[in-house]
Amino acid sequence: MSQSISVNELPAVMNVYNRFPIELVKGKGSYVWDKEGKKYLDFTSGIATCNLGHVPEPVHKKLSEQLASLWHCSNLFAIPAQEELAQKLTYHSCYNQVFFCNSGAEANEAAIKLAKKYAKDQGNPERTEIVTFHHSFHGRTGTTMAATAQEKIHQGFEPIVSGFRYLPLNSKDVLSQIDNGKTTAVLVELVQGEGGVRPVEQEWIIALEDYCRQSDILLMVDEIQTGIGRTGTLFAYEQFGIKPDVMTLAKGLGSGFPVGAMLARQEVAASFQPGTHGSTFGGNPLAMTAGAATLDVMLDKQFFQEVVDKSRWLFEALHELKANFPIIKDVRGYGFLIGVEFSENAADIVAAFRDKGVIVLAAGEHVLRILPPLTATWEEIKVFIHTLTGILVEGENNTK
Ligand SMILES: *Cc1c(COP(=O)(O)O)cnc(C)c1O
Repeated sequence: MSQSISVNELPAVMNVYNRFPIELVKGKGSYVWDKEGKKYLDFTSGIATCNLGHVPEPVHKKLSEQLASLWHCSNLFAIPAQEELAQKLTYHSCYNQVFFCNSGAEANEAAIKLAKKYAKDQGNPERTEIVTFHHSFHGRTGTTMAATAQEKIHQGFEPIVSGFRYLPLNSKDVLSQIDNGKTTAVLVELVQGEGGVRPVEQEWIIALEDYCRQSDILLMVDEIQTGIGRTGTLFAYEQFGIKPDVMTLAKGLGSGFPVGAMLARQEVAASFQPGTHGSTFGGNPLAMTAGAATLDVMLDKQFFQEVVDKSRWLFEALHELKANFPIIKDVRGYGFLIGVEFSENAADIVAAFRDKGVIVLAAGEHVLRILPPLTATWEEIKVFIHTLTGILVEGENNTK
C-alpha cells in the first residue's frame, strides 16, 4: 500500500535553521535568482564560502572535467590532486603539511586532536586543555561546540565535552592565565565571524604568540571564515605579523564545494601518523580540484590589489555613513569581512535590504555582516552603499 503525503504534514527536514523566505535556484557572479525570477545582489557569499562569486568559470571548468573522470577514491590509494593542493597551500603559507577533510568543524576537530597528540609526543601528557575565547565560533560537533565559548550554543547539550577553558579576547591581563600547567594549545579566530565580526588587536595577538612560544603552547588559528582571501590577503594571519603553529580552513576553499583543511608546521604535523586520524570523503578528487582551481584564481598577482582597493573604498563609505547616521555605532573588520554595528536590531536592516534586492547577514543581535564576493565589481559595491544609504534615510524619515 502506498503512503499518501498530505501537504499539512511536518516538513521532512529537521528544523535547525531560521531560513529566509526565499528559494534560490540560480547563481552567477555576485547575483542569485529566486524561483520567481527575482534577482538579488548576494553580499553574503553563502556565508564567506563563494568567495569568487557563484559558479566561477575557472572552477566550473576544472570541476566539470574532474566530474567526467573520477569522483571518489578512497584514501587507501594515492591521490595526486591532494598533493597538488597541499603544495599550493603550504607554498603560500607558513605551514609544511596539510590534512584534508570536508568541513570547518572537522578541520577544528583535527586541530584539537593534533594538539593533544603533540603534547603526548613532547612528553607532556598532562597538557590536554585548549584555551578558546568568549564570542568564538568553532563548529557544531560535540567537541567543536565545546570549543565554542558561547553559552547559547551549549545550552541543552550538557554534559559538554571537557578540556576547554574560555578567556576574554583582546585582554592583556589574561595572558598569564593561559598556561595553568595543563594547556596544550590556544585556538583563536583572528576576526571572530559568527560572534559579531570582532577582530583581535594586533598588539594582543603578537603578545599571545610570544607567550605561547615561551610556554611551548601551540597557537592555532581558526581561519575557516577569515581564510581564502576573505580579509584581503590569502590568509588573515599574514596581516597580523604572526606565524601560528596550526591553521584551519574550510568555507572559501572550494568556492562552495565542501572542503576542509588543517595545516601545521612540520614538528607538529609529525604527531599525525597512519592510524591516528582520517576521513572517508576528505581530500576526494572533486574537492581537491575545486580547491586548486579556487587558489589559482586568487594567486594571480592582480587579484588582491583590487580587493584591497575596493575594501578601502567600502570602509571609507561606511565610516562616512557612520558619521551621518547615529544609528550606526561601529564599523569594523578586514577586507571583505565587514561588521556594521547598529543601535537597532540588525534583523530589521537585513529584511529592509532583502526588500530592495540585496542579501546580507546579521552576526548577533546588532551587527550587520557584509561579505561581498571578492570578485564584486565597483558598480555592485556602489549599489550596496546606495541601498544602505536609502535604508538609513528612510529609517530617519520614519522616526521624524
Ligand atoms: C563556519 C565556521 C566554522 C564551522 O564550519 P562548518 O563547515 O559549518 O563545520 C568554524 N569556525 C569558524 C570560524 C566558522 O566561521
